[in-house]
Amino acid sequence: MTTDARKKEILFLDETANLKNYDEAYANFDWKQVEETFTWYKTGKVNMVYEAIDRHVENGKADQIALYFTDGVRDEAYTYAEVQKNSCQFANGLRSLGIGKGDRVFIFMPRSPELYFAILGTVRIGAIAGPLFEAFMEEAVKDRLSDSGAVAVVTTPALVNRIPVDELPELKHIILVGAEETTSDKQVLYQDLMSKSDEYIIEWVDRETGMLLHYTSGSTGKPKGVLQVHDAMVHQYHAGRLVYDLREGDIYWCTADPGWVTGTSAGMWSPWLNGVTAVLRGGRFNAEEWFKTLEKYGVTVWFSAPTAFRMLMAAGNELPKKYNLEKLRHILSAGEPLNPEVIRWGLDVLKLRIHDNWWMTETGSSICANFRCNPIRPGSMGKPLPGITLAIVDDQGNVLPPNRMGNLAIKPKWPAMVRAIWNNKEKYDQYFETGWFVSGDSAYMDEDGYFWFEGRVDDVINTAGERVGPFEVESKLVEHPAVAEAGVIGVPDPVRGEVIKAFITLRDGYEESEELKQEIREFVKTRLAAHAAPRMIEIRQSIPKTRSGKIMRRVLKAWELGLPTGDLSTMEE
Ligand code: ATP
Ligand code: MG
Repeated sequence: MTTDARKKEILFLDETANLKNYDEAYANFDWKQVEETFTWYKTGKVNMVYEAIDRHVENGKADQIALYFTDGVRDEAYTYAEVQKNSCQFANGLRSLGIGKGDRVFIFMPRSPELYFAILGTVRIGAIAGPLFEAFMEEAVKDRLSDSGAVAVVTTPALVNRIPVDELPELKHIILVGAEETTSDKQVLYQDLMSKSDEYIIEWVDRETGMLLHYTSGSTGKPKGVLQVHDAMVHQYHAGRLVYDLREGDIYWCTADPGWVTGTSAGMWSPWLNGVTAVLRGGRFNAEEWFKTLEKYGVTVWFSAPTAFRMLMAAGNELPKKYNLEKLRHILSAGEPLNPEVIRWGLDVLKLRIHDNWWMTETGSSICANFRCNPIRPGSMGKPLPGITLAIVDDQGNVLPPNRMGNLAIKPKWPAMVRAIWNNKEKYDQYFETGWFVSGDSAYMDEDGYFWFEGRVDDVINTAGERVGPFEVESKLVEHPAVAEAGVIGVPDPVRGEVIKAFITLRDGYEESEELKQEIREFVKTRLAAHAAPRMIEIRQSIPKTRSGKIMRRVLKAWELGLPTGDLSTMEE
């Protein structure tokens, strides 16, 4: 599509950024340079939690705040020393249950410090932590616990009934947070576990030892269990420094839930490996509360997702003016394509650029990013991180020249890369069949090396011989003042192959009418392209999304065609 029109740069050269010269850094990069910053480079003793927490305690940061937590009821702060102590207590508790290296411990509870201590305590003893988003219902919980063969699950009284213990023969322990008493033999109280011992404890492991098991978002089908190893720290530290631009003294808030990879990788590991203060907010989305959180802690670096930014936009431009957001200096977005409209809103209202970066559960950390020292081209996801070879390849793995649409692919291997799809070697091998890790996303690279996302390979629409990426149409739709959110699919058509159908939600104050639909259609036609204008527009109360905020186009398509919707465990109500 009209690549030139998309290529409007927003110039902004930041002299203070950690990364000052992208081209030079990319050309001279070697992962060894990053590895040398870790203690294990000298001692040979590896553990993610040692590098993320203990190292700072030993190096003068014992009393620095590692974690702020607020959820409207609780309001807490924990120093690095306190996080170390709590995670050691949890680790000792797990050991007392006979849990150790390689065992899977799942954590199924709302965002809270206990959730973080449980992940840290599990990884501390070389076990594998599996964070599960609190909104999962029984079937979804069962699928994941049984697939992973979890031996323990950490949960709360409100959620415990969603764990079908009788159907999970490998599950031996249920650790209850916030309960006064247990109701079955398998249950144990969190506070009892924590009081076993607060002795320092760490299990030294190999860099390739499993650490986290994340189930994917389920946008395209049944969620996959993605195994990440301790070596991921090299990448997560690197992304924290160069992409999130973390520096001494930063107060950093990543809004993602640890049930998704962004919530652990960008929410815990990147900030702690870089020794900054992380903010954790419990509770549901609320525009006022979010701006209040930014102000309350003096957040300097903020990481969120397009869907959240769009919701903040929908709350109106007056709201942010009520808060003092002066400390904020860097904003990031990931998880979905970032609409240019959102970047314009950021510049307008927050006076800052929003930096898109692209990654997947399987990549374990940022792969392609807009860096502070580079101009932003709104709609583009930027350039590969130093150390990452990113390319557009055809189905055989041949690298395509600039401006050709194809498979977005990464040269293996990189430190945070998936090391196994749990119980599914075939699926794992499929990713690497061509000698590249093939992402399943479709994109192109322009002649200056910027990558542009088109859509999931399966979502790309073919209409009258033209390829249309749903993201570009959705981005244009949300520029129309009446449109709050949009999801676009191709519907089979005997003449055109496919025709474009848009599902939209309206902003407050707009009513459904044929005139409005016609106006929206014209809007896309005149501002994007005639062939990209949706022939059909359906107005809905909501757009089906995953709980991590991704539009589920496969569900829209199934509804449209009257087909089975498949696995809906990750769909938001
Ligand atoms: P599943 O693999 O189960 O279908 P999922 O792919 O949505 O679910 P995740 O690993 O959470 O699960 O998401 C990765 C996907 O999110 C990428 O493949 C891409 O399609 C999308 N994505 C992430 N960041 C960006 C971004 N900055 N721009 C465009 N797309 C993005
Ligand atoms: Mg995926």
